Amino acid sequence: MPPSIFSIDVEDWFNLSGTGLEPPPSEWDRLESRVERNLRLLFGLLAEGGGTATCFFLGYFAKRFPHLVREAVAAGHEVASHSYFHRLVYEMTPAEFYEDALASRKLLEDISGKPVRGYRAPAFSVTDHTPWFFDKLAEAGYQYDSSVFPARHQTGGLATSRFEPHGIETAAGTIAEFPITVVRVLGTPMCFFGGGYLRLFPYHLMRSMGRRALKEGRPIVFYIHPREIDPDHPRMALSRRRKFTCYVNLRSTRPKIEHILRDFQVLSFDQHMANAARH
Ligand SMILES: [Zn+2]
Repeated sequence: MPPSIFSIDVEDWFNLSGTGLEPPPSEWDRLESRVERNLRLLFGLLAEGGGTATCFFLGYFAKRFPHLVREAVAAGHEVASHSYFHRLVYEMTPAEFYEDALASRKLLEDISGKPVRGYRAPAFSVTDHTPWFFDKLAEAGYQYDSSVFPARHQTGGLATSRFEPHGIETAAGTIAEFPITVVRVLGTPMCFFGGGYLRLFPYHLMRSMGRRALKEGRPIVFYIHPREIDPDHPRMALSRRRKFTCYVNLRSTRPKIEHILRDFQVLSFDQHMANAARH
């Protein structure tokens, strides 16, 4: 079976962007943080299951817990950026986005001692309203991206039929785009492989849909947040709909990850690209 990609968006239980309830960064220092414990749990599962991951760190958490960045590197995982302060791309100006993405990359490179090549936007907030996104990302020194969600999504989503990894040319260089994996079900693209989708659908359905994507020649891009393996994390006063997507089946995350690591070979984005370049 060809390899897939495992990714972790390194953020905490209160980073629910797009809900209108994510506290401003000025309050984050005062909130209980569970990201250390939860990220280490994920590292433990990956070590047991023989997988490696790309860790998309928020710059804020890299600065607050720099040892986590170094632990990721020591365990063989890739360090990449999930922005600095988790602001939605479509709520920033192009100049604000550039500054945020650049600051995050530089900080992560300083701490990890390695080049940081990859980016994932908070809440997949790359949409028709952000046509400048790839230009600014390349200007900020990035080489690949995994922010495009090619299906309907609460906060993001881009109407495109390009489901496979592909290159996007910009004036500042090429960005390799790895869209979040979707599979057509009755003609409609659907995701089964991360966040609320991973928690909602039964594992056997995810596995068969994943095998279908692999058969179509696309790697599966799995994505998870540290809070999702922590069923007892504090809850926020979300709307009923968001409560469902944020908190459904939290107890299923851990066994599903164990099953994924048993049934699929998972790598980081940089390992996947190095493999592809060799073949
Ligand atoms: Zn996020």
